[in-house]
Amino acid sequence: MSEAASYSVRDGVAVITLNNPPVNGLGSVLRPGIMQGIKNADTDAAVKALVIIGSAKAFSGGADIREFNTPKMNVPPSLPEINDAQDQCSKPMIAAIGGFALGGGLELALGCHYRVALPKSQLGLPEVKLGLLPGSGGTQRLPRVVGAAQAVQMMTTGNPVPAEKALGLGLVDEIVQGDLLEGAISFARKLLEQKKGPRRIRDQSVKIDGDPKAFFDKARAEVGKASRGFPAPLEIVACVEAAATKPFDEGRREERERFKFLVESNESMALRHMFFAERQTTKIPDVPEDTPTREIRRAAVIGAGTMGGGIAMNFANAGIPVSLMDVTDEAVRKGFEKIRGNYAATVSKGRLKQEEMDKRIALIKTTTRLEDARDADIVIEAVFERMDVKQDMFRKLDAIAKPGAILATNTSTLDVNAIAAVTKRPQDVIGTHFFSPANVMRLLEVVRGAKTGKDVLATTMKLGKTIKKVPVVSGVCDGFIGNRMVEKYGQQSLFLIDEGCTPQQVDAAAYQWGMAMGPLAMGDMAGLDIGWEIRKRRYLERPNFIYSKVGDRVCELGRYGQKTGKGWYRYELPNRTPIPDPEVEEIINKYRAENNIKTRSISEEEMVERLIYALVNEAAYILEEGIALRASDVDMVYLTGYGFPAWRGGPMFYADTVGLDKVLAAIERFQKGYRGDAWKPAPLLVRLARQGGKFNG
Ligand code: NAD
Repeated sequence: MSEAASYSVRDGVAVITLNNPPVNGLGSVLRPGIMQGIKNADTDAAVKALVIIGSAKAFSGGADIREFNTPKMNVPPSLPEINDAQDQCSKPMIAAIGGFALGGGLELALGCHYRVALPKSQLGLPEVKLGLLPGSGGTQRLPRVVGAAQAVQMMTTGNPVPAEKALGLGLVDEIVQGDLLEGAISFARKLLEQKKGPRRIRDQSVKIDGDPKAFFDKARAEVGKASRGFPAPLEIVACVEAAATKPFDEGRREERERFKFLVESNESMALRHMFFAERQTTKIPDVPEDTPTREIRRAAVIGAGTMGGGIAMNFANAGIPVSLMDVTDEAVRKGFEKIRGNYAATVSKGRLKQEEMDKRIALIKTTTRLEDARDADIVIEAVFERMDVKQDMFRKLDAIAKPGAILATNTSTLDVNAIAAVTKRPQDVIGTHFFSPANVMRLLEVVRGAKTGKDVLATTMKLGKTIKKVPVVSGVCDGFIGNRMVEKYGQQSLFLIDEGCTPQQVDAAAYQWGMAMGPLAMGDMAGLDIGWEIRKRRYLERPNFIYSKVGDRVCELGRYGQKTGKGWYRYELPNRTPIPDPEVEEIINKYRAENNIKTRSISEEEMVERLIYALVNEAAYILEEGIALRASDVDMVYLTGYGFPAWRGGPMFYADTVGLDKVLAAIERFQKGYRGDAWKPAPLLVRLARQGGKFNG
């Protein structure tokens, strides 16, 4: 037997112990041992039952991701072969589940004839989160145990169920209090006393409430609506239907076919791309992984407004003491109350314990004295977005902060180099661009100034991970990676309105394609005045700036979005559901008439292409200028900061799947259309399209 799976016998009960840290991944070192153990137990006359057990923390997390895309994945036996051996075993087999049984881990447990679990265990089939379905019998066995409705629910969401719920569903036969192995062995003895033998799931039938056809029609309609074109959930429903209507082996074959289809689908490749892209962002070519970092024991945040409060929460959540400074007692008090309110809401939803909230709150000290930033290892400035205000602040911080402290700015548009230049320590200055709400959004753009020290960059990236963000390096430019791209996206959304679309049509097309929300609804949420301020600056700075002024007309009426109850839509606050507003229709019609714009009917496909390719084209400039280090970083920015659908893999991955020649051809077509002057294909896109290349090489 291998070390990864040990075998022993106790009073007639064989015990196979999985030992492949950290999560008992079902890798090439583990599978042969499990198979051998099952064979040993089956052939040894002294053995009457067997138990498969992992550690208290993990029964098994499923496939071993370290072996993805390596020949080790094909080392026999496969999990389905183990499942067959489990089905054929003549003695009752019990899975003893401590911690989690996920994916292939739960499929192994479903191959067992009985399951017992510790009270804190979690059981689930999360394959859908990588665009896949459980491919080793999970879609056939789970419905036979928990019924069709629960199986659809568990597998299409991918969310695990806790042991107590699993007990109610019949997925677990007994909850073990105390020692798991002892509990599993005494459960085995009880079975033997009651003369109960193997109970194969494959021999059971699927429970459905009501008429099966009606059930699956409804499931398809509901799941199809929620998944908006993402194929895995509907494939899962089809597999459950096969489980309910076909013999087991036929259902298994169908599962295999559908699994193969999904593995090769763009959507699953996109999700796997995202998985690996997230692990790439901290790799910076000229900053080796062993670059020394500075220690961050204390932080200070300057400005207790919308952003400052959320930023301070990130530190407190990570156990780092933070002082939060603003100019007046009133501003500080308001900022702190907002933080307290945020935590209290999480506590009331049962997602945070009161004592944990108290601990975090105790880490946040408020102050009106800038001098209190003196002992901070990092100071993050989040004051008003004005160069003079920021520079004044950095001059003061330069005088106050201790030597070696990192001085960071949360600016969204301003030149980090110009801010660094007013200090005597530009090597210590960096941008940390958080996204609103800063305590929730995972994206952190880390803006590397021309003089930012390598150790400062390495430290900030590491800190980003510590506070559970996805840190992505950006060079200095107006808008950095994300907002520079979104300006082009917003530009197209307005041109689409000029040309005949309603805001709700544009939003519906983007939403239906998979965006968390459409561009106009997003503007209403963020505040339309922010973009308007930027545009007004652009009109002065860039005489050739191309933008529709229809958005300005909306703002001129004080319609700033949700915060004023009106924007592109009307809101019945506190309800934030956008309601179409005839007043907006009037503004748009008037604007079209004044500018002699001929309207036409535009397909959803064109709307989506114009919006998404605007992102792609700008990102190609950003890549060529070296503002982003790699295409997958751009993807991570959009996936974690802008509600881009994960299963499309980010704008660059998506463009690769469409084919860059097709993307370029579409852009060349748009160049001939309304406001075609807004489109200039990026040289990098043109080059790659000609060579048949891809952004994500
Ligand atoms: P805000 O107006 O909500 O908060 C700014 C706070 O800074 C106010 O409480 C103000 O009293 C305080 N302040 C101003 N001058 C100060 C000084 N000299 N000393 C101490 N405090 C001072 O603004 P915000 O939305 O939190 O934005 C802050 C920064 O973050 C800006 O640079 C903004 O561009 C950037 N940002 C904002 C967002 C967003 O969605 N709101 C997103 C990313 C970045």
